[in-house]
Amino acid sequence: YEAKRTTVGVVVYDTSVDRAQSSVPGLLLELPRAIQNDELVIYYQPKLDLNTHQVLSVEALVRWAHPTLGLLSPDQFVPLAEATGMIRQLTSWVLGTALSQAAAWRASGRSLRMAVNISARDLADATLPDRVTSALARSGIPADQLTLELTESAIMADEARGTEVLSQLRELGVRISLDDFGTGYSSLAYLEQLPLDEVKIDRSFLGDGDGAESFIVRSMAKMSHHLGLQIVMEGVEKWTSYDSVARIGCDELQGFALSPPLEALQLEDWLDGWAVEGLPRPLQR
Ligand code: C2E
Ligand code: MG
Ligand code: MG
Ligand code: MG
Repeated sequence: YEAKRTTVGVVVYDTSVDRAQSSVPGLLLELPRAIQNDELVIYYQPKLDLNTHQVLSVEALVRWAHPTLGLLSPDQFVPLAEATGMIRQLTSWVLGTALSQAAAWRASGRSLRMAVNISARDLADATLPDRVTSALARSGIPADQLTLELTESAIMADEARGTEVLSQLRELGVRISLDDFGTGYSSLAYLEQLPLDEVKIDRSFLGDGDGAESFIVRSMAKMSHHLGLQIVMEGVEKWTSYDSVARIGCDELQGFALSPPLEALQLEDWLDGWAVEGLPRPLQR
């Protein structure tokens, strides 16, 4: 599994494959320095609340502003961090940085819930609940304003342990979201057993547009609501999907149609624009 993920990390370099392959061991060695030198940067992608048409939450998505390779996407280094154990430092850094950003936004009157992605290795790490607790305490952000996003495969990597840690996190008051829902190998039946607050339906189900109204997606949405879970449709690229996403009962929408992930300052400008303009004109009712 890890070997496969590492391969994914190799092939996505936009320079030549040769250069990419030779730079991988280098990247591994550079990651600790990257954290210390502030080369990691978090982009924030807003989610639209479909009931109020307000942006109430954002997802933290890490990037690495590498001095020579340029802006690296998480797929290029998160798997490396997972394979080497660096993920603990990476996750702690993202948690701390995203929560202090959330605190700064709150102080300036923007109250946004923050979502942070957590990897399989984090979930197997007994210190995770304590690290989450202290990051919350340092920021002063209430636990229910933090959502942790995990994929099915991360939870199922060690189901018993994963469920146990998720329950501990949830007891802290943190919200738990199942990311990329529908792409894992587990069955819908797991939804009932896992301690969850939210599911994010993977963008692959949207297809070219009306995928949200396919039988499978409607079933996923219906079942999730039946279990009292919030539903986010992720990866919505076109506003033409809006009606079907709203009609099947999704609570939130996220994707390029609304906004790509943005740096903190850009997001502030974007939020100010949204507050004035709101939905694109054809969708305003
Ligand atoms: P994810 O959590 O499922 O995040 C969604 C990914 O889809 C993000 O890619 C986002 O930029 C992209 N996306 C958003 N809207 C659209 C859209 O409309 N169309 C398309 N095609 N893509 C869209 P990104 O930022 O490259 O992140 C990829 C994955 O890396 C994330 O998937 C998440 O699993 C992981 N990741 C990101 N940040 C972190 C982190 O801080 N820690 C850990 N452990 N993993 C992270
Ligand atoms: Mg996510
Ligand atoms: Mg996702
Ligand atoms: Mg994903």
